[in-house]
Amino acid sequence: MIRLRPHHLLCTQGYSGKGYDSGFVAHMNEVVEQLRNVPGTKITLTFSTDTLCSCCPHKEGEDLCDTQEKVKRFDRKTVEYFGLEEKEYVYQDLIREIDEKMTPEMLADICQGCSWFPISACRRNICGGR
Ligand code: SF4
Ligand code: SF4
Repeated sequence: MIRLRPHHLLCTQGYSGKGYDSGFVAHMNEVVEQLRNVPGTKITLTFSTDTLCSCCPHKEGEDLCDTQEKVKRFDRKTVEYFGLEEKEYVYQDLIREIDEKMTPEMLADICQGCSWFPISACRRNICGGR
C-alpha cells in the first residue's frame, strides 16, 4: 500500500520527472506511474514521512525531514483546506475532489516556500485553467 503525506497529494500531480537525486526520481517515477495510470489505486494518508520520503536524501528519520518546519506546514495547510484524515482513500477520487475545490490562491498559500513552485507543472496540473 502506498502511504502519502497530505502535501504529496499535490506534488504527485505536478511531478514531471525532476527530483532530488536519481534514486529519488526512479522511485518517484514508479509510484506516480501507478497513481496516475492504475484506476482505483488506494493510498493510506499519513501525517508523517511516507512512501516517497523513503527514497529521499532529505529524510533524516521517522517523521523527520531536513526541512521539517516547511513540509509540516505544507501538510497542515493541505489538511485544513480539504478536511483530510489519516485513513485510506482512492487516490484518483481524492485528487478529483481536491482539484475541484483548489484555487490558485490556495495552492500558492500551501506551497509557499517550495523551490519547485515556479518551475513545476503543479499549478497547471492542479488548478487547470483557473
Ligand atoms: S509547488 Fe512544491 S509543495 Fe506544492 S505541489 Fe508542487 S512540488 Fe509540491
Ligand atoms: S523533502 Fe522531506 S517531505 Fe519531501 S520527500 Fe523528502 S523527506 Fe519527504
